[in-house]
Amino acid sequence: MRANFGRMYNAHVKIFERVEMMSVTDFKAAQKWAKLPKQTKQLILENVLCSSCGVTTIVEFTMQDTKFGILLKGKCVKCGRDVARLLENE
Ligand SMILES: [Zn+2]
Repeated sequence: MRANFGRMYNAHVKIFERVEMMSVTDFKAAQKWAKLPKQTKQLILENVLCSSCGVTTIVEFTMQDTKFGILLKGKCVKCGRDVARLLENE
């Protein structure tokens, strides 16, 4: 189950990219996000993987509530590349 997760996640990101143009930040995701402690949110935002920079900070992101958790999608603060971070459901 765990081994397949990365693949499922990648597929999901691709689907999300396709709907992104007409979607704004998901209301349910925004509600869940708002409940997180400030420190937790900062930790999440500062630990996003960029394909060229490695661990970076995500900026200008949108949120989407998915069945895997909250999907954050935005840009790398260092190089401006698209990055995504899944905040898994507990
Ligand atoms: Zn980068």
